[in-house]
Amino acid sequence: MFSNKDEFKKAFLKRLETLCGKRFEESTPRDQYNTLGNMVREYISKNWIQTNEQNRARKQKQVYYLSIEFLLGRLLGSNLLNLGIRDVVEEGLRDLGICLEDIEECEADAGLGNGGLGRLAACFLDSLASLDLPGHGCGIRYKHGLFDQKIVDGYQVELPEQWLRHGNVWEIRKEELAVEVNFWGKVEISQQNGRLTFRHVDSEKVMAVPYDMPIIGYHTKTVNTLRLWSAEPAKTFPVHKDVMQYKRETEAISEFLYPDDTHEEGKILRLKQQYFLVAASIGSIVRAHRRQHGHLYELHKYVAIHVNDTHPALAIPELMRILLDEEGMSWEDAWHITTNTISYTNHTTLSEALEKWPIHIFQPLLPRIYMIVEEINERFCRDLWNYYPGDWKRIEEMAIIAHGLVKMAHLAIVGSHSVNGVAKLHTEILKKREMRLFYEFEPQKFNNKTNGVTHRRWLLKANPELSALITDTIGGRWIKEPQALIELKPYASDSVFQQALAKVKQQRKAKLAKLIYEKTGIVVNESSIFDVQVKRLHAYKRQLLNVLHIMYLYNRLKEDAIFSIYPRTFIFGAKASPGYYYAKRIIKLIHSIAEKVNKDKQTNEQLKVIFLENYRVSLAEEIFPAADVSEQISTASKEASGTGNMKFMMNGAITLGTLDGANVEILEAVGEENMFLFGLTADEVLSYYENGGYRSHEYYHHDKRIKQVVDQLINGFFPDAHDHFEPIYDSLLAQNDEYFVLRDFAAYVEAQEKVEQVYQERERWLKMSAINIAHSGYFASDRTVQEYANEIWDIHPVK
Ligand SMILES: *Cc1c(COP(=O)(O)O)cnc(C)c1O
Repeated sequence: MFSNKDEFKKAFLKRLETLCGKRFEESTPRDQYNTLGNMVREYISKNWIQTNEQNRARKQKQVYYLSIEFLLGRLLGSNLLNLGIRDVVEEGLRDLGICLEDIEECEADAGLGNGGLGRLAACFLDSLASLDLPGHGCGIRYKHGLFDQKIVDGYQVELPEQWLRHGNVWEIRKEELAVEVNFWGKVEISQQNGRLTFRHVDSEKVMAVPYDMPIIGYHTKTVNTLRLWSAEPAKTFPVHKDVMQYKRETEAISEFLYPDDTHEEGKILRLKQQYFLVAASIGSIVRAHRRQHGHLYELHKYVAIHVNDTHPALAIPELMRILLDEEGMSWEDAWHITTNTISYTNHTTLSEALEKWPIHIFQPLLPRIYMIVEEINERFCRDLWNYYPGDWKRIEEMAIIAHGLVKMAHLAIVGSHSVNGVAKLHTEILKKREMRLFYEFEPQKFNNKTNGVTHRRWLLKANPELSALITDTIGGRWIKEPQALIELKPYASDSVFQQALAKVKQQRKAKLAKLIYEKTGIVVNESSIFDVQVKRLHAYKRQLLNVLHIMYLYNRLKEDAIFSIYPRTFIFGAKASPGYYYAKRIIKLIHSIAEKVNKDKQTNEQLKVIFLENYRVSLAEEIFPAADVSEQISTASKEASGTGNMKFMMNGAITLGTLDGANVEILEAVGEENMFLFGLTADEVLSYYENGGYRSHEYYHHDKRIKQVVDQLINGFFPDAHDHFEPIYDSLLAQNDEYFVLRDFAAYVEAQEKVEQVYQERERWLKMSAINIAHSGYFASDRTVQEYANEIWDIHPVK
């Protein structure tokens, strides 16, 4: 039905009538979207079934990627593209008077994630399928994804997100594959044939019902599966409990994604979510394996289970529970299989983000799992004691359970065969600092896997204009082999190529300018520098540094009659965690400076500040292609990798950044002359934290520019905000500026001046831009996933 335009049109019209029960003339864009979505799902069903059958028949090793977040975004466009039917569909619809882009807008973003970590999981799924690797995602089908952000008077308001309101054409409910998950209750221990047996009794049962979504590879027959679990009441309601309360508590498990990005709240519900994901996923993995092999003794030879951050780390005791209690294995056998099956990625060194569960919450909710964690801990501490006899302090620091807390990162390290960081610098910090003791004990477990992003979504789909230029220049090999983008390098100085590159950037800036006007009513200068910072709002990401610089520019423009700048549009997009009050004040500050700058006739020709509300994947796809400058200005050592930096680079934006996360590797790839670097290094930051020596007051008193902008936070400069920015002021002075904003201010101003100067040297800038695109192939997630496949999972393509 997709082989040619006319066939497609015929099938589409027929399908629309049967599906929607109306004639095409009466159909709405949503009807049209649903029709097309259903057609696509039907179209791939044969390959989906075949992929599953082949995986079973060949008994190939498969990886299951467990993640509490999958930030997928919209799927129609990327599915059409991966299937190679986008053009046929677009033309067919055009004949019918429908614009494909318009009906794509009907799809709600699947926003089942907060930011980088969840988006990484989504990129990995795309790469796994596109590389024909047998790999599947396991997650939670949250009824409400990350909140929708509304800005009211410059303040963030959170609204519940409702992606399922109009249904989800991509999912298939598989009730017959439901898994029962047990909470609460107690453990009965008895002796049988000289062996202790454990029975979890009086538990409260929850039914985990899977919804499968196809993950379609690019121009291949592979269709992998993302299995999202929904929590429902068990077939029989518990007798001892109020029916309504049981239903409510059960459904609550898959109701909301936690919008808390790093600050972990000690919420029972969150622990419930984590165990729910793990028990359902492992239950179904083990069931399938048993059916094929009859036993689990060789599980690790056929299955790899990857734990994305510590949220699914209960996979370790859960797999142990099954092997011990259901299979009757010895501890040693069970431990061998478990540790060889499971691998773990760490995503952050921020200590406030390291998960620790109080025993008094953990033990009653998961009594048998807690017993197993205790046993893992005891055996681990015994090993440590043998290795470091008498070193109590070290053992106390490394223990999985200590001071009334279960430390999930320790559990994840001890129970897996591979621990990886997400960029070279991050992995080094793990080995040398955060996880030093574990690294000393088992160095062979530790490795680096620098993050990547799928160039199919972030370049091919998001930026068809640039993609066409690249293909015209070097051919289409880069789409299957992104590292072939390096072939662009010889064209970086070619003036014909440069002009074409300038033209596509201009097209996308015009498109974004139009969107900005539609969303905000503000007209931006399309020839200005588009300087973009889009990411979650966090103190360590230092949106504040960007804002203070804008305030400085504004002050100069107002006070210095001969000072002028090349026109600049600063663009922000960021959600703040609802309980993160400091971050919310930064959002208000961005709006307050925007209000001033954009309305001031003296400055608004040269300076505009835009905040695009509700930053999410679909909006990001409009922003990256239009960016000139990529703001990656985190306090060095704090950003584990970043992936936004890679999306910008792929789209020809130049990084203005600190030597943090993957910026370091972008530097290695493109060289200093093709980036704008500034600020403290990670070593300098860490040395300040260790040895002291930083006094933000000194920078405040010695630099008039700093004093002025910091004072403006509280001196009535922002009349609409009263004393709202006092906590920001205090963080910079009274609290000694934990993130070194003032320390890096002068260097940042200087780097921004360089940006402005180089931007006006058009050939130089365009060459830089081209070189960044040429080197971005390394940051495609195909490379990352291939490394995981070879070095951690030991999985191979199914052909
Ligand atoms: C890529 C992406 C992120 C991560 O951005 P960073 O700059 O790496 O923090 C967050 N949210 C969305 C919607 C993204 O697409």
